[in-house]
Amino acid sequence: MTQASAAAGKVIALLSKDELAHSPTVAKVKYSLCTGCEMCVDACPYEAIRLVDGKAVVNEVLCEGCGTCSGTCLRAAIDVKNVTQMQIHDMISAVMGG
Ligand code: SF4
Ligand code: SF4
Repeated sequence: MTQASAAAGKVIALLSKDELAHSPTVAKVKYSLCTGCEMCVDACPYEAIRLVDGKAVVNEVLCEGCGTCSGTCLRAAIDVKNVTQMQIHDMISAVMGG
């Protein structure tokens, strides 16, 4: 009962704001590469991706920027903003001394 009241209080506080802030680190689809295979849709733990006209579309409000979709896509058609696959590759290369 106490936990339910606390959760309800948090939701009311959240919904009473005029604006909601969200991290800008969200996934972005390169539509020219997306084949609509739905692998990212199935992989997203936040149900933030759906197909629209055969292409993956990210709901930026639901996306938590976890990167699961990017790691799943075989076409490299989806990246997390500011954390692209090439940036990760470059970071690993730098750590490995390459
Ligand atoms: S996994 Fe890649 S190619 Fe498949 S729907 Fe998602 S973004 Fe498109
Ligand atoms: S970054 Fe994570 S939360 Fe966002 S769309 Fe991809 S899998 Fe879903």
